Amino acid sequence: MRSLVYLKDVATIKLDEQKCTGCGMCLDVCPHHVFAMNGKKVRIDSRDTCMECGACSKNCPAEALQVQSGVGCAAAVINSMLGRNGGECCCGPQTDKDGSVKNGGACCC
Ligand code: SF4
Ligand code: SF4
Repeated sequence: MRSLVYLKDVATIKLDEQKCTGCGMCLDVCPHHVFAMNGKKVRIDSRDTCMECGACSKNCPAEALQVQSGVGCAAAVINSMLGRNGGECCCGPQTDKDGSVKNGGACCC
């Protein structure tokens, strides 16, 4: 089953295939099935379903994965939907003409 897609081409997940040993830990910990095996290594199969939780990079023993967890647009959209503070995205919070933040600083995209 495919996971929810947040926004296209905004997730910051990066894989260094040279470092990957194919241990499969990222496949086990990723809640959104972003990875798939590609021979003896993994590949990013579904970038747009990444929610930038950071579990893969924290658990990768080869330090082959990098993700800016909790700061990207995916996190902003999720935080905004949940009504949490910190929902600003890379585009900045929505503001009125006078510069005051509106909609609780929710992501503009
Ligand atoms: S956890 Fe790291 S080393 Fe293991 S398969 Fe995933 S990317 Fe490769
Ligand atoms: S950051 Fe989270 S959702 Fe994204 S690939 Fe890693 S484990 Fe999966």
